[in-house]
Amino acid sequence: MTALIGVGVGLGVASGPVARMADPLPAPADETSTRTAEEERQRAHEALEAVARELERRGEHAGGTAQEVLEAQAMMAEDPSLAEEIDGRIAAGKTAERAVHDAFAAFQETLTAMGGYLGERAADLGDVAQRVLARLTGVAAPGVPDPGHPFVLVARDLSPADTALLDLDQVLAVVTSEGGPTSHTAILAREKSIVAVVGAAQAGELADGQTVIVDAAAGAVTADPTPEQLAEAAERAQRRRAAASAPLAPGALKDGTTVPLLANLGKPDGAAAARALGAEGVGLFRTEFLFLNSAQAPSVAEQQTAYETLLSGFAGCKVVVRVLDAGADKPLAFLTDDTEENPALGLRGIRVLRAREQVLRDQLTALAQADAATTARGEGADLWVMAPMVATVEETTYFTALARELGIRTVGVMVEVPACALLADRILSVADFASIGTNDLTQYTLAADRLLGSVASFQDPWHPAVLRLVQEVGAAGRDSGKPVGICGEAAADPLLAVVLVGLGATSLSMAPSALADVRASLAAHDTDDARRIAAAALAADDAVSARAAARAAASPTATV
Ligand code: PEP
Ligand code: MG
Repeated sequence: MTALIGVGVGLGVASGPVARMADPLPAPADETSTRTAEEERQRAHEALEAVARELERRGEHAGGTAQEVLEAQAMMAEDPSLAEEIDGRIAAGKTAERAVHDAFAAFQETLTAMGGYLGERAADLGDVAQRVLARLTGVAAPGVPDPGHPFVLVARDLSPADTALLDLDQVLAVVTSEGGPTSHTAILAREKSIVAVVGAAQAGELADGQTVIVDAAAGAVTADPTPEQLAEAAERAQRRRAAASAPLAPGALKDGTTVPLLANLGKPDGAAAARALGAEGVGLFRTEFLFLNSAQAPSVAEQQTAYETLLSGFAGCKVVVRVLDAGADKPLAFLTDDTEENPALGLRGIRVLRAREQVLRDQLTALAQADAATTARGEGADLWVMAPMVATVEETTYFTALARELGIRTVGVMVEVPACALLADRILSVADFASIGTNDLTQYTLAADRLLGSVASFQDPWHPAVLRLVQEVGAAGRDSGKPVGICGEAAADPLLAVVLVGLGATSLSMAPSALADVRASLAAHDTDDARRIAAAALAADDAVSARAAARAAASPTATV
């Protein structure tokens, strides 16, 4: 069998025997109930309630992001509109089992049709349905197998409840045939540093006991590998362990050129964990994650509290906060218009904030007040604020003027739209800094929806067209003497990180779990290496050859 291709989470590699997760419970028979409607209703409600409590218990045990996810699932089990839907079906003569199955399926369909972040929550709802059905039929909920030895877990998709409680001494890696890079399996695997490849459509062909290599960096799963392939994977895993336990030093190239390594965060209380992994500050704080579930624009006071926690957690460090980036993959009920046909090209990012300027004014005010309050307490950070999805010089002028008027000292823009990269020299004559969001920059350069599996192969920041745009921004930064950071996923790829620095990036920001690999990779190359490796990638015709050319140019210098 050739390698199965999916989306790698993180950069790890692991190998071992496959253990498959049991298939989901079959759909209950569609027969008329022999119980009274009231009996069926009580059975359904008891099962929903028991599952909600069980999910909450698992959440308390797991803590962290897992707890939030499990609590959200518990709320799904207790959703009144779902209960109403179930009651209606029972009243029409269905069994509790069938009513639960059908009602959840209808809700799942609605979520899937919404696509994006909400679409990926459909799997979470499906997991709740399975648990309720298992409870009703008196069987164990489908879950993680226990073959009695360490194994590579292969599943269609993992529920948050399963991912949260994985025994990391037993689970060597995770492979799923469904789920994308923003599925909960991916998010939690990243947080727990589990080697994972998600969305590998052919994973269903893997058999129990079959040996596989799971290579997250390559997004590939190799079945029945040769002894040489196994030895190479073991060696790479060992190098990563050594890099992870190396002393925490600031990011720098081999010749001492500093490249600050910063964290991408979505919650204000992630400071301690990020700093423990060597984050020198925050390169991207995604404020919209604070308000994904809000029906109304958050108040200034509510925001100020969150920003104070963030800033004091990084006292003395640089903290780059992005104002709300609503739209497309990050819809916010109080800002985005969900009837747009093409939200990725719609009123999103800075455009929607401008259309609703009071929301932007409130956010900038909250940030300035949090900055002043933490500074007054001697816990201040160096606050930089940037706008997402900027496409024109005029938008840059608008945003920088407003932010400065409201008391923000350092104001920049994200470069995510090709127009912004191509005019970076003029943009940087207005803004104090630029931060390149390679996720969206790749999406817009290659015209490929970043959440759509069918065009996932286009979503590759190694593409030389993307690298040329980064080079354009890097040159503008050098000429103007202004900082150019990278805060998209590209910065977390150790070899690409070297290329980005060779193209002029002055700092890199990433999920904290990627910091150790990137730190080690930078330390293995000097400035001339970085420029040479970048030139090799730029000269390629496509993403695959750019990666290969960079690898060849980087050897024999070791990369992680
Ligand atoms: C990006 O687009 O690269 C980025 C960092 O922003 P987000 O992933 O939040 O859109
Ligand atoms: Mg973006």
